[in-house]
Amino acid sequence: MEIVLLGTGSPIPDPNRAGPATLIKAGEGGLEQVLIDAGRGCVMRMAAAGSLPVLLSGVLITHLHSDHLCALNDVITTQWVMTNEPRPLRIWGPVGIERFVDRTLDALGPDIGYRIAHHDDLNWGPLVEISEVQAGDSFELGSMQVSVHPTVHTPVEPTVGYRVEREGKVAALAGDTIPCAGLDQLTENADAYVQTVIRDDLVKLVPVERMQDILDYHSSVEQAAQTATRNKVKTLVLTHLVPAPQPEQYDEWRAVAAQHFNGEIVIGDDLTSVSL
Ligand SMILES: [Zn+2]
Ligand SMILES: [Zn+2]
Repeated sequence: MEIVLLGTGSPIPDPNRAGPATLIKAGEGGLEQVLIDAGRGCVMRMAAAGSLPVLLSGVLITHLHSDHLCALNDVITTQWVMTNEPRPLRIWGPVGIERFVDRTLDALGPDIGYRIAHHDDLNWGPLVEISEVQAGDSFELGSMQVSVHPTVHTPVEPTVGYRVEREGKVAALAGDTIPCAGLDQLTENADAYVQTVIRDDLVKLVPVERMQDILDYHSSVEQAAQTATRNKVKTLVLTHLVPAPQPEQYDEWRAVAAQHFNGEIVIGDDLTSVSL
């Protein structure tokens, strides 16, 4: 398996960081592909990573915060206009994802009508197959085994992380969460653990109440490193970096994590990839 960070940003717009989104590529030629979250600009980054919505076996959504799914409409419509036969896009997400997608399709109604009217060979609208997941669910996605674990991002509920296993390798995709029992199960003995993080020491210095509010529902870099150590993770991959560091600050970020974790630490840039 290969994990590609498509977007390492946050709600704060950044020319170098797309919104939160991660791609898993597996199988022959990396053509088995799964998208985890669909943040701002993820379809552009997919193109850069040798992927396209039409190649996706499925989409896994961790929670309904806008930064994690605002580009889902782009994934849905691009998959639709690039398929030459009716084929559903499979989407898994927490309770509420079905309503979100239904409303997205409703909003896209005019576009869907225009394209069907204009293209003789297109006589169907976007097809989606939605599964609302619960903690404890597991399912097969091509050659991958996926299990769903509860996370804590209160007041955002429900939130989940996905553990993806294939040929003895484990990728743990956590989404936004503070340390919790579900996160421990999700990351246990993972080869790679992808965690959205904030630097709480830096965020605390920002004299803006709305920034202070984010401290209580994200993992800090230290907490992600502690989670990785507690659960014997091999590689810790940090994404959704707040405040977004410049490359010359990566050593400092890595040092903060290394105080609590001895394994490999990856500070994510868009299109960083980690092979398992
Ligand atoms: Zn969130
Ligand atoms: Zn987020």
